[in-house]
Amino acid sequence: MLQDNRYACLFEPVAIGPVTAKNRFYQVPHCCGMGHLRPRAHAAMRAMKAEGGWAVVSTEEAEIHPSSDLSPYPEQRIWDERDIPALRLMTDAVHERGALAAIELVHNGHHASNLYSRIPAMAPTDMPLANGYPKQARAMDKSDIRHLRQWHRQAALRARQAGFDIVYVYAGHEMTLAQHFLLPQFNTRTDEYGGSLENRARLLRELLQDTREAIGDTCAVAFRFAVDELKGDDGMQAHEEGRAVVEYLADLPDLWDVNVSDWANDSLTTRFEPEDGYQVRHMEFVKSVTDKPVVGVGRLTSPDLMVSLVKRRVVDFIGAARPSIADPFLPLKIEQNRTDEIRECIGCNICVSSDSLGVPIRCTQNPTMGEEWRRGWHPEQTRPKISDAACLVVGAGPAGLECALQLSRRGYDVTLAEKSDRLGGRVRGESGLNGLSAWLRVHDNRAYELRQKANVEIFTNSDLSAEHIIELGVENVFLATGSRWKTDGTGRSRSQPIAGLDQVPNQNGTSVVTADNVMAGAILPDGPVVVYDDDHGYMGGVIAGHLRDAGHDTTIVTSASLVSPWTSTTLEQERIQKTLIREGVEIVANRTIVELFDGAVATECVFSGRRAELDCRTLVLVTGRVPEIGLYRQLAKMKARGDDRACDLAVTLIGDALAPGLIADAVFSGHLAARNFQVDPLEIERDLFRREIPSLENPW
Ligand code: ADP
Ligand code: SF4
Repeated sequence: MLQDNRYACLFEPVAIGPVTAKNRFYQVPHCCGMGHLRPRAHAAMRAMKAEGGWAVVSTEEAEIHPSSDLSPYPEQRIWDERDIPALRLMTDAVHERGALAAIELVHNGHHASNLYSRIPAMAPTDMPLANGYPKQARAMDKSDIRHLRQWHRQAALRARQAGFDIVYVYAGHEMTLAQHFLLPQFNTRTDEYGGSLENRARLLRELLQDTREAIGDTCAVAFRFAVDELKGDDGMQAHEEGRAVVEYLADLPDLWDVNVSDWANDSLTTRFEPEDGYQVRHMEFVKSVTDKPVVGVGRLTSPDLMVSLVKRRVVDFIGAARPSIADPFLPLKIEQNRTDEIRECIGCNICVSSDSLGVPIRCTQNPTMGEEWRRGWHPEQTRPKISDAACLVVGAGPAGLECALQLSRRGYDVTLAEKSDRLGGRVRGESGLNGLSAWLRVHDNRAYELRQKANVEIFTNSDLSAEHIIELGVENVFLATGSRWKTDGTGRSRSQPIAGLDQVPNQNGTSVVTADNVMAGAILPDGPVVVYDDDHGYMGGVIAGHLRDAGHDTTIVTSASLVSPWTSTTLEQERIQKTLIREGVEIVANRTIVELFDGAVATECVFSGRRAELDCRTLVLVTGRVPEIGLYRQLAKMKARGDDRACDLAVTLIGDALAPGLIADAVFSGHLAARNFQVDPLEIERDLFRREIPSLENPW
């Protein structure tokens, strides 16, 4: 199977305590917005990773007791034996596909607000709950610690009963009690569980020992540990206490799964950390301290980097959450020498946003992620064509590229026409902004595959009109013509255009541009730039940072309280705001822009309506988007007039032209349209998607 020896070392089996992984590909625990609420969807999603060649497939964090209740976030639950059947769905599915199943047991301490169970939360010391709920966690006494150990032990036994091969103790992400005990910022105890590092690590040692005693004869005990908090002297550092913990516990676990905390540092986006493998520098010491196998993460997508990490003895396992989400078949593609086909993660954290919102996981690169069970989608397989019909896709942004690719995979002849001289649409523009270059990967792998296909013809510099489309004579037309940023200043908080925009250019030559103009490389005049964000997604903050970097005196006015508030779901908001402040971008929050004058804009407080003025030479609008549906309307008009040539066309609007959204939404829309092409509408309606309906059978 493995034709290229370069990668052979990645496919060696590795023992983890009493179990053996068939290769070095290890899907580390990751959240997915499914958890205990959506067990069938969860099992099918994990099973897909096993099918794709991952040797180990893990759950997300699994709460061990109702006093660690992460509601409303649907994580795993192993509170008691009633949770076993749902977990068994996953272990059976993973085992059937030849992988080991791991479970990440957790007690979240004050990170869990217990909103469902209403049990007071617990922490090493009295402290406020982590999520802002105005309630405190109570300090644990010795009997609480005893109970915690019992719960963990019982959960480990249940995990074995559910069929797991690897059981985790978890001290990471600033989210777990085991780590809270370790960190002086949370642990100010004066008993034998506080003070010295040995005391603070006591609970960890006990949990590892308890787990080993409970299930260690047949299951491996893994330890997930954040070696560095990336807070400098204010936190745990890899070269100080982080290392000391690894030395202290060195051979107690069967496997070290090491990373950095908190979650925002661990799952860094490419916007702030473009380099794949960015965690290596923090964790490479671990293997020199322990004889046990080590798994490391940090967006490891390049097979060459993986080989180098194994050969340099930095890790034994290639750990992956996001790379396994973007491409569940990554190991198999490497094994079969199909590395060109790997769908590389772009580091956008849309997957993380799903968990933040408590909905099933989605991914920009992989539109089938999260749809394995409910829509029956497979990332590498699709239903064959139903007829010899030919298709025309207009627009080669993410929606058009994905639609064309899936149609061609199904076997249809596809013509892809793009108005500009290059493929990519919005990802080409957005990837030119500071920090977003990796987003072009959305184009790269699709364009590459489309160019290999014998049944695809690609035309660039082809600005199609309705007449062109009719002349082409292809009956099935997918319009992926995208959207553009609005020029009138209407957006989320204002439906009225900004007054004075129609007077531009005015006396002082104040100019008005949109995010599109900035992406197209518009040269802005000297003088103060005001970016107006009434969109609240990522774009306002990106544009402000980009212009500041280009040397402009930049202010961002936002109608929200924070810059780019939506990006808290992708774990980026704090970093965005900090970076803008550090770089000298002025932030004016809670204000809308209501009027443009000569050399100034008038802003209005969203609460009081009080007005103020700001100097402005260039106003950059990031407010709302307009779908580009001129072509669609032309064709619809011709149909309405009864023009037979237009009536013969089946026209489908997809992507941002249908509803402007995230790149992930555009990709999904293109994928869905291609999957559904020529499928009986009744079948589509019936199978729209399956739902997991709570069972009324057991009156528990
Ligand atoms: P989406 O996110 O929905 O894929 P994009 O805005 O990224 O949308 O891409 C739309 C693409 O469609 C752009 O590359 C644009 O140049 C192209 N396009 C728009 N109108 C036409 C047209 N009439 N003919 C060909 N291509 C078009
Ligand atoms: Fe990577 Fe983005 Fe997909 Fe997450 S959503 S796996 S970050 S491409």
